Amino acid sequence: MKCRLCLNEKELRKSHIIPAFVIRWLKDTSATGFLRSGTSPDQRIQDGLKSRLLCAECELLFSQWEKPFSEKIFTPYVTKELDINGKAQSIHTSFEYSSWLLKFIISVQWRLLIYETETTTLEINPKLKTIAFDHINLWRKFLLSETSSTGRNETHLIFLQSFVSGNGTLPKELNENINFYLLRIIDGTTVYSEKNLGVYSKFGPIAAFTMLEPSSIPTSRMKNTKIHMKGTVSSIQEIADPFITDFIFITRPNEIFDSTILSQRQTDKISETILKNIPRTLASQSFRIKNQERLMKYFKRK
Ligand SMILES: [Zn+2]
Repeated sequence: MKCRLCLNEKELRKSHIIPAFVIRWLKDTSATGFLRSGTSPDQRIQDGLKSRLLCAECELLFSQWEKPFSEKIFTPYVTKELDINGKAQSIHTSFEYSSWLLKFIISVQWRLLIYETETTTLEINPKLKTIAFDHINLWRKFLLSETSSTGRNETHLIFLQSFVSGNGTLPKELNENINFYLLRIIDGTTVYSEKNLGVYSKFGPIAAFTMLEPSSIPTSRMKNTKIHMKGTVSSIQEIADPFITDFIFITRPNEIFDSTILSQRQTDKISETILKNIPRTLASQSFRIKNQERLMKYFKRK
């Protein structure tokens, strides 16, 4: 089969779209030590979304960008900046990066875009479809360093934290599992409306949003989020673009949790695992976030 990056006929590897280190972190910090997938919650999964797109050599190229993202941004943010309740502590708020960050994010968005255009029927207008396919080609060249531009688009890196620590009134459509979504869910998909198109990936509490149409967002609506070829990104941000905030905070959590109703048998199974392992459960982040969700009910506006 043809590798999607180098286009050579080679044996392709079945690999994670969202990198394995994120999945390992989730497992290590969860109450049961197992994961459940968003779409079929009755099955314990040990892995995230996998797809056969790359040869071994091209996969190695991608792992060179994953490593600095894991070491310089992901790990400091989840272990130092966020406390066990998922609340930002203003200890580690600034992250330096060079070209590996945009390469890493685009490598994920590129695979998501290929995956979604091939496995689902994207119900988008022809203009947006053309933009999507043009970016698949352009990003391939960018990842191979044949061009230094990612095209007409903007990538924003968004640092998320527990809602309990935020200020202001919460919209009533907010899902009561919102904190679990923001802090613990691995996600990746295209996001579109009649006129807008973006690609979204989420590594636990860090999300990346690449806007393709419109290709830029006024800086007044997204502060300290935009990623360049090199620079410093701060986790103290303002996220106020309605297309992005509606999706991350309202639409997507509702989509995910409406489809994840655990059967009674599965709920019993989780309780059993928790009872067998009480010290681990009490110390785990997923258990604490569940408790915060109970509090969320009182914050909701009627
Ligand atoms: Zn290849």
